Amino acid sequence: MSAGLVTVSYIGAIILFILTLGGLSHQETARKGNLYGMIGMTMAVLATIFGPQVTSNTHLIVVAMLVGGSVGITLARKVEMTQMPELVAILHSLVGIAAVLVGYVNFMGGSGLTGVEKSIHEVEIYVGVLIGAITFSGSVIAFCKLSGKISGSPLMLPARHWLNLGLLIASIYFGYDFVHQGHVGGDPMIPLMIMTGIALLFGVHMVMAIGGADMPVVVSMLNSYSGWAASATGFMLSNDLLIVVGALVGSSGAILSFIMCRAMNRNFISVIAGGFGTDTAAVTTGTVEDQGEVVPIETNEVASLLQNAKEVMIIPGYGMAVAQAQHTVNEITKTLRAKKINVRFGIHPVAGRMPGHMNVLLAEAKVPYDIVFEMDEINDDFPATDVSIVVGANDIVNPSAQDDPNSPIAGMPVLECWKGTTTIVLKRSMATGYAGVQNPLFFKENTRMYFGDAKESLDAVLKELL
Ligand code: NDP
Repeated sequence: MSAGLVTVSYIGAIILFILTLGGLSHQETARKGNLYGMIGMTMAVLATIFGPQVTSNTHLIVVAMLVGGSVGITLARKVEMTQMPELVAILHSLVGIAAVLVGYVNFMGGSGLTGVEKSIHEVEIYVGVLIGAITFSGSVIAFCKLSGKISGSPLMLPARHWLNLGLLIASIYFGYDFVHQGHVGGDPMIPLMIMTGIALLFGVHMVMAIGGADMPVVVSMLNSYSGWAASATGFMLSNDLLIVVGALVGSSGAILSFIMCRAMNRNFISVIAGGFGTDTAAVTTGTVEDQGEVVPIETNEVASLLQNAKEVMIIPGYGMAVAQAQHTVNEITKTLRAKKINVRFGIHPVAGRMPGHMNVLLAEAKVPYDIVFEMDEINDDFPATDVSIVVGANDIVNPSAQDDPNSPIAGMPVLECWKGTTTIVLKRSMATGYAGVQNPLFFKENTRMYFGDAKESLDAVLKELL
């Protein structure tokens, strides 16, 4: 393939990637957006493999792609919807380690450049390895936290900000040392390796310090870092497409992190520097006994409350994903709407375990988009709601976020369902949610607890309604 054709393919792929991002910003166009992305990526890969930069061993690349692709397909088919955030985190780590390896290989291979050009190239390598190593170790820790392999609580070292500052200054010092031909140990490889160790440590410390309800920000932040790592790899390889695509991923991830922080009323810089989230799961607003009585409810009572309501609000959370209750939720919605009951959905920005988690599940179950509302659009409507059904949600409907300044989730906006006439909470026990805090909603006078697996419970309600 000629260089001209490769350039044309790259420009085509970039346009498709931009259209992808545009498409993904609305539920109705998300499917088309994904399709653009797939076509763009196929064009980009083919143009790269058959372009003039690959002069030999094409068959090895194809074999590596087949092996990697097969692993990817197997993982994607096996993974549960609830494990998606962990999968995304571990995939980000691969982008990070790729940037590190490309950086080392690039450096060891020698660039043949001299003077300022050589220095610029070395800065590219240094920055690429730095971002890649942070992304790698940070993503591995995020994977371990999200999959429950290590505690989700934040690690609050006493002088953590000073430690971060020290690591940053050390990285800058070794960067200077690297570009100025290795004063340490007389070999530029030594400052590069020391910095790699520092960056790995920084990634671990950064993500260890974030926890509890702030984990969504970590997921989107690492998404952003993986984009910048890819972009840095593009600079090392002089590949314009990789630079642009990396920048698209990096900036969209950064915007998403910012939006998530705003939605959770968190300061972006403070979350990145660590310090929010729960210290331990014991940081609760009292024990279950302290809080008062919970009032359980039976299936027929749930059905009768729903049938007699005019305004129903469904609030899905992580438990809906665990129970895979979205299809029954849709059936109940259809049944109630056929009885002229107005059913709407209230979606919290961090409901579930990944951005847009609930929207994906509801779209999969074919819930109409026009009855699904964001928290900001719907929160004022609760006083006029007859029945709110909380399907496996907990932190996102916790009033202590507003009432208790000492709560680890204090300040996080929540869906104010308790302002309606009756709230029915579907969950299996009195266990806490992701942030590990007890929920005073469960003890309110107008709350009824409907214990059990969300799908089984809703299946039983549906039977009563039909
Ligand atoms: P929570 O984790 O707060 O609560 C989920 C509830 O679902 C639990 O209390 C659990 O109670 C219940 N549950 C679990 N399985 C079932 C089941 N089979 N049937 C019925 N109920 C079930 O989820 P929310 O959606 O309310 O809040 C999301 C939390 O996750 C926030 O703290 C957010 O910050 C965090 N997070 C979000 C991410 C994102 O990007 N959206 C990423 C990482 C973290 P029980 O065990 O008693 O059934």
